[in-house]
Amino acid sequence: MEKKILDKTIEQWIKERPIISDMIAYKPVFWVNDDLKDQEAVTYDNLELAWKDVLEAEERWIRFAPLISRLFPETEKQNGVIESALVELSNMKDAIRNRYKGTVEGRMFLKCDNDLPVAGSIKARGGIYEVLKHAEHLALSHNLLNKEQDYSILAETEFKQFFSRYSLAVGSTGNLGLSIGIMGAALGFKVTVHMSADAKQWKKDLLRSKGVTVVEYESDYSKAVEEGRRLALQDPMCHFVDDEHSKDLFLGYSAAAIRLKRQLAEKNIKVDKQNPLFVYLPCGVGGAPGGICFGLKQLFKEDVHCFFVEPTHSPCMLLGLATGENDHVSVQDFGIDNITEGDGLAVGRASGFVGKVMENLLSGIYTIEDNDLYKLLALLKDTENIEIEPSAAASLMGPMALIKEKAGVAYIRSRKLEQYMNAATHIAWATGGSFVPVDMKEDFYEKGKRLLRE
Ligand SMILES: *Cc1c(COP(=O)(O)O)cnc(C)c1O
Repeated sequence: MEKKILDKTIEQWIKERPIISDMIAYKPVFWVNDDLKDQEAVTYDNLELAWKDVLEAEERWIRFAPLISRLFPETEKQNGVIESALVELSNMKDAIRNRYKGTVEGRMFLKCDNDLPVAGSIKARGGIYEVLKHAEHLALSHNLLNKEQDYSILAETEFKQFFSRYSLAVGSTGNLGLSIGIMGAALGFKVTVHMSADAKQWKKDLLRSKGVTVVEYESDYSKAVEEGRRLALQDPMCHFVDDEHSKDLFLGYSAAAIRLKRQLAEKNIKVDKQNPLFVYLPCGVGGAPGGICFGLKQLFKEDVHCFFVEPTHSPCMLLGLATGENDHVSVQDFGIDNITEGDGLAVGRASGFVGKVMENLLSGIYTIEDNDLYKLLALLKDTENIEIEPSAAASLMGPMALIKEKAGVAYIRSRKLEQYMNAATHIAWATGGSFVPVDMKEDFYEKGKRLLRE
């Protein structure tokens, strides 16, 4: 009998959703979401999610800033706020135009989460937030703290001893583990990170040097998460950070929207109908790009257009949204191998929770080949002297993909945006890089240069 995926053969799926054919052939695609709705038509009631949750997350970040500043002196100059710069890419924009033959109108920026302190990746937003929220909950519920206090006292020995009675666990391809491990260990928690096979050795070494227990799996991300979850549930003193379901992670990321709005205002960059904002976000399981997209849509409504990007070998969110089956399908079901060098992006099944929230918010998704990640990374280093990791480079293709792919052009037309594209702002979200060891950074760059010469 022929293999079926949710009662349909692959041929039937392709007939219904022709884009799947190119996805199976690992061809880069550009998908536009027909279910995108105007903000006022979208409700999140059944998902128990609202704008006030984003505000609450930002308030919590503010309460914890004095503690972060004390624990991580590198954040002192930002008063304990974990935030990254928004940098204009003038030279890179020209380099992309020459390389990929197309004219990107408007201005292009890089959101430098590759430089985020403490964790060196976008995970500093979600992962650290969830650890802080849990720590706050424990301290408040034991009457050791009140919300008006200066939270820097949480760095004192008595609190470390208190937190050491509790443990944290997480399943991760690497970067989430780093953020939970570094923050958790700094507070005194016992932390266990369940790492998938693709996790890099240097991340395991770094975590172990902080006293974190690293459990290694020979399987992929989903399996590491599943096993971590199972073990954590057996221990009542253990909090499991669930990358596939956690609303706290999602909200930690979402606060980035408030910060970005402020940064845009500081640069006198308008966002309205005549000045559209395009944001390109690399997507793994979906929490980071999803949380940020959620926050941005609340703030800018129809004037912001969020696109996710996934590797051609791991297009899990695209598959979930394009089939309408969300987390009921995995890329492996369709014979797609989930093997990519984009750290954090090797995810075969998207978060069902995030997929649901994105249904009416996301403008679209494009996919990218691993080779282009290296090329873009090298171009960025040559033109702007900024170093990022391969997964982060995926976002840089956004403005070009949008204007070169038929579906992208159709998206712009259908929203009557052609006349405003010269006043557009494009933001490529650089999701990680600064913690990558120097010799690996050099290898990435050399590989990119080699590919650019071919
Ligand atoms: C985790 C990660 C992403 C994607 O975040 P998800 O929440 O998994 O979608 C993108 N880039 C990097 C570098 C990451 O570590």
